[in-house]
Amino acid sequence: MKEKQTKRALIVVDMLNDFIAPDGALSCGPAGEAIVPACAAHVAAHREAGDTVIYVCDRHRPDDAEFRMFPPHCIAGTPGAEIIAELAPAAGDIVISKRRYSGFFGTGLDLDLRELGITELFLVGVCTNICVQYTAADARNRGYEVHVYRDAVASFDEAAHTMALSQMESVLGCTVE
Ligand code: ZN
Repeated sequence: MKEKQTKRALIVVDMLNDFIAPDGALSCGPAGEAIVPACAAHVAAHREAGDTVIYVCDRHRPDDAEFRMFPPHCIAGTPGAEIIAELAPAAGDIVISKRRYSGFFGTGLDLDLRELGITELFLVGVCTNICVQYTAADARNRGYEVHVYRDAVASFDEAAHTMALSQMESVLGCTVE
């Protein structure tokens, strides 16, 4: 437990080599690379404020059912599944593995947040319209206050990115800032 524990957590979604590296298995392309400095700045600011930093990370099985829809990516134990070096976790950060879009589905994220008394979440990462949006939806369903940093989320699909930001704000009640 940190000395200064707030009720806020920064959630870093899928900033992993396979999604962010140009040669990653399921790269988001230039849009994904472009948000790395903003993500790093938000991580630094939230750490400085004493907020909890949580990484939710795709960690698939080699034969994961998700690969019926997407090319194999982020297979547990491979370099592609690792958090990008620029955003390496620090001592005290929490790293959570997931096998589906939402960081809440089949994971201990909700339990971790409740045990830490966290009620307010800030989201960064990829993809805006997939794992960020479904994590935001599950957070809102559970009653968390959710902020999304517009400068630190991205998608391979610009139109879907824009639509997702709009939906998270108008339908899910997130604050997009
Ligand atoms: Zn996946």
